[in-house]
Amino acid sequence: MADITPEVRALMRPSAAALEPYDPAFSPVDVILSANENNYGIPPEVAPILAEAVAGAAWNRYPAPLGGRLRARLAAWHGVAPEQVIIGNGGDELLFNLFLAFGGAGHTLVSCPPTFSVYGLYASMVETPVAEVFRGRDFAPNVDALAEAARTATLVVVTSPNNPTGDLFPREGVRRLCEACPGIVLVDEAYIEFSDPGSSVDDLLGEYENLAVLHTFSKAFALAGTRVGYVLAGAPVVAALAAVRQPYSVSAPDQAAALAAVTHREAFRPAIEAIRLGRGRLSAMLGGLAALGVRVWPSQANFVCARVPHAHDVWRRLRDEHSILVRDFSSTPGLEGCLRITVGTPGEIDLVAAALDTILKGE
Ligand SMILES: *Cc1c(COP(=O)(O)O)cnc(C)c1O
Repeated sequence: MADITPEVRALMRPSAAALEPYDPAFSPVDVILSANENNYGIPPEVAPILAEAVAGAAWNRYPAPLGGRLRARLAAWHGVAPEQVIIGNGGDELLFNLFLAFGGAGHTLVSCPPTFSVYGLYASMVETPVAEVFRGRDFAPNVDALAEAARTATLVVVTSPNNPTGDLFPREGVRRLCEACPGIVLVDEAYIEFSDPGSSVDDLLGEYENLAVLHTFSKAFALAGTRVGYVLAGAPVVAALAAVRQPYSVSAPDQAAALAAVTHREAFRPAIEAIRLGRGRLSAMLGGLAALGVRVWPSQANFVCARVPHAHDVWRRLRDEHSILVRDFSSTPGLEGCLRITVGTPGEIDLVAAALDTILKGE
């Protein structure tokens, strides 16, 4: 990527001129455990159905702006009205739209770092002031302080399970935020399918008109390449998000792929279950390296957060000597020494555990 020259930067809107292009820190490797994708892919029995659905999409026609059949199917699945569902070009577009609709100068965001960096990025793009309520020991959110900050906020975003720490946000805490906040409370549930049953706060939508819940097809449903996400919220909040969206942001083939995934969602269960089991195994293997200075936190997502000695060095050696890419958070405030490791297939778990063992034992 070329640098933005001073001449070009001088032409940019001040809040945009402060930014650099997003770098997913990707390098070509054999084992990709850096982006929390589903390394099992589409279940083999669903793959041909999905391919046929995509091939049969109306390529010459603009797609249904609000998702038509996909929206109806998502509403039926979650037991809400279609007017309470909005689809986006990945969860990321919906997050951006949330800030376009509800953020901006004088509209404060309350966030709970360390968390997904995209919230802060989008907030700054639309000049939204951010009140950060940092997590405490073992990444526990400070619900009292969040609720206090929420009283004067336009937008509160919490992540459950949180990326990259893996913990669920307490359900009672979501209730308190919805009650305290005069604005919108978004719960980002991008990884909720990997959590224990009953962990989603979708069922609180009927109680709180200011609650919105974000979901995505990128993680459990193995469709990160198609870019489809959705928000469930009260119909007026959905209408506000619809007002700021690009009308045709989710392509017809992408809608068809997501519809096939929802229709056959039970077929994704075995891989999700295998990832949950793999998470336990990976956590135990990392826990077994405690004597070498490794610390791992419990996770309800498809990744684990671990603190390792000389983390940046370990990250580089995993990549260069073992062709395994994980995510380095060691220079992020609050995540000193931490790496985030996606739970891959059983073979990939063995490889990353063995590689860490080798590197940390100094062999
Ligand atoms: C991956 C992720 C998303 C959404 O990703 P998309 O691919 O844009 O749907 C949203 N929130 C968090 C915390 C994520 O990790």
